[in-house]
Amino acid sequence: MKKLTVIVTALALLLSFTACSALEGNQSSQEQTSQPETSLSSTPDTSAEDSMQEPSNNETAQFNLETGTVLLNSGYEMPIIGLGTFQLSDSECENSVYHALLYGGRLIDTARIYGNEEAVGRAIQRAIDEGICTREEIFVTTKMWTADYDNADAAIDASLERLGLDYIDLMILHHSQPENDVEAYQAMERAVEDGKLRSIGLSNYYTPEDFDRLVNATTITPALLQNETHLYHQSTQMKEHLEQYGTVLESWFPLGGRGQTQILFNDETVVSIAEAHDKTSAQIILRWHLQAGNIAIPGSSNPDHILENLSVFDFELSQEEMDRLTALDRNERFADY
Ligand code: NAD
Repeated sequence: MKKLTVIVTALALLLSFTACSALEGNQSSQEQTSQPETSLSSTPDTSAEDSMQEPSNNETAQFNLETGTVLLNSGYEMPIIGLGTFQLSDSECENSVYHALLYGGRLIDTARIYGNEEAVGRAIQRAIDEGICTREEIFVTTKMWTADYDNADAAIDASLERLGLDYIDLMILHHSQPENDVEAYQAMERAVEDGKLRSIGLSNYYTPEDFDRLVNATTITPALLQNETHLYHQSTQMKEHLEQYGTVLESWFPLGGRGQTQILFNDETVVSIAEAHDKTSAQIILRWHLQAGNIAIPGSSNPDHILENLSVFDFELSQEEMDRLTALDRNERFADY
């Protein structure tokens, strides 16, 4: 029965994506330009005028829960839910990324330090070869590791090479490292000029002061900040700080991270809301992230879970439910880095 449900949901997702691809195909001539992609804004909810808008750094990024995307301050559209690949072996990673793409997921998060950029590249190539999606529809994020900050130009080229891509949608510095992160970020700025990177951002900057230190020393405003963010650590202060820059927050450990997911899954508030919607705890938590304005990249090597995690667009949390979930914040991180 469970298998049947999964197959039916997969078919529904595939059908909706085929429709989406057909729409995108109609405007393919517009996508030939080097302008930021606006392909997903071709859905009925987004007017032509909207797709022409240049986002300003001072605007709060708007999550579109119909298209499942957000317009970054770089001008590029980014899916708001995808797949994380931390701690996935090569074969697990390739299989997971392939299934995420098969099920309609379009956002993939990897990192040089995960050692699986090649596997991500192979899965993407396979999905493209099989006609599941095009390169332009996929949004790939990778991260520059701290040991590479002194050789950042070469690190960018090496990630491109390992991924087998002509450009990376988003590259972020993996951690704050005041002695040389400005230089590394400046190398990413040059790579944006060269067309190697489309958007750039940061990860693991936990205070407004540290974020501003980097912003004030560089030119391109970070499109995104990826920090540990979940129900018990909602990153409220940083999120408020990011608003003035139009920088979006992306949640790592969106489900609490390996070893801690059951803590969040069994939280009684989460369980009662899950029962009310006939959804899983994971889906309630992920839907909370999206409605709260956090991009989520849950990690999994299990295709059933990957499909489940992407299937969060057919229900909505009420304001009262959002408030109950928001009230769970304890400002408590699970990781110590
Ligand atoms: P997560 O919160 O996504 O949880 C992953 C765990 O949840 C795994 O054990 C997985 O098996 C389980 N899981 C996933 N979906 C499930 C479902 N539907 N039902 C039951 N269990 C489910 O933790 P994560 O993967 O570590 O973090 C997400 C992603 O964030 C990573 O994969 C990585 O891409 C990124 N990340 C970034 C940093 C950073 O420093 N920037 C650090 C950690 C993770």
